[in-house]
Amino acid sequence: MSRFWSQVVRDLTPYIPGEQPKISNLIKLNTNEHPYPPSPRVVAAIQAELGDDGSRLRLYPDPNADLLKTAIAAHYAIERNQVFVGNGSDEVLAHVFMALLKHEQPILFPDITYSFYPVYCGLYGVNYRTVPLADDFSIDPADYCGQPNGGIIFPNPNAPTGCLLSLAAIEQILAANPDSLVVVDEAYIDFGGKSAISLVDRYDNLLVTHTLSKSRSLAGLRVGYAVGHPALIEALERVKNSFNSYPLDRLAIVGAVAAIDDQAYFEQACARVVASRDHLSSALTTLGFTVLPSAANFIFVRHPEHDASQLAAALRQRNIIVRHFKLPRIDQFLRITIGSDSECLALSDALREVIA
Ligand SMILES: *Cc1c(COP(=O)(O)O)cnc(C)c1O
Repeated sequence: MSRFWSQVVRDLTPYIPGEQPKISNLIKLNTNEHPYPPSPRVVAAIQAELGDDGSRLRLYPDPNADLLKTAIAAHYAIERNQVFVGNGSDEVLAHVFMALLKHEQPILFPDITYSFYPVYCGLYGVNYRTVPLADDFSIDPADYCGQPNGGIIFPNPNAPTGCLLSLAAIEQILAANPDSLVVVDEAYIDFGGKSAISLVDRYDNLLVTHTLSKSRSLAGLRVGYAVGHPALIEALERVKNSFNSYPLDRLAIVGAVAAIDDQAYFEQACARVVASRDHLSSALTTLGFTVLPSAANFIFVRHPEHDASQLAAALRQRNIIVRHFKLPRIDQFLRITIGSDSECLALSDALREVIA
């Protein structure tokens, strides 16, 4: 605290990201990164952009990242003016809160969800009301129908539960809220769900956000995007061009294009994670854990006889880090990122030892 702090800064409660430890040889299963590298085409594209002497880095990147918007539009068979891109989907989401979710009425999101949402509300002065998940930790679409609101946002699959909502349920929410924006944060959709991007031409109140951080193995490159009606995209462009004209650098643009274009590699890498998830889920079930059904690249688990924070500490002693949230309703759960096959094996071996 200092006398130079603005009132806004005094009142902020910043998001706390999962630990990025500086020591090596840790098995890092705490921030939902992909266990396998990005497509080799990404590396080649970045190397080509760098060239021999990096002289292209003298020049600003394309402020509109048109190459990337074109690649994303082609991928989903939509128009380029239905696509917004940003420096990670967190930045895209920040612009969404300021541009499209700040209204008189409070916005709605689940009580258990991505903990960045209330942080953006604090930053931009957006009122919100949380809606409790059902007892089985699913989102009940009926809870989002018939109550006035300034907008709705939820991840699908939800984080940190991994539970998936069907497209029919999302349509139910969209149809019941024609005058509210419904934002579906699809950070994990590629690991087992159907994207709501297929609905954007039918619902002008739908915005879908994606990231290349999880399913495309590019958390370090910082690329995210949003898809929706051109008028929604225009609102985001207005905020972006009042904040930072060049959110994506040259390497990020060409790397992201290469990642989007390599469909075969992407499908194979996601399928490997899904196979490991299903295998790990049954291994932990055998050890007595309750494993919520996950459509993401993580699982949310609890053991009826072992305290979650003690389990996390015991894993940490064995050089494995997972995520534990000290929050109501979920403080007995651990969120475990799906690692490589050998990492998953090390995790289940460690847990077997700890609970023995
Ligand atoms: C990881 C994550 C994001 C942010 O992704 P970035 O593109 O890395 O900023 C957004 N929403 C949810 C639910 C996430 O888990």
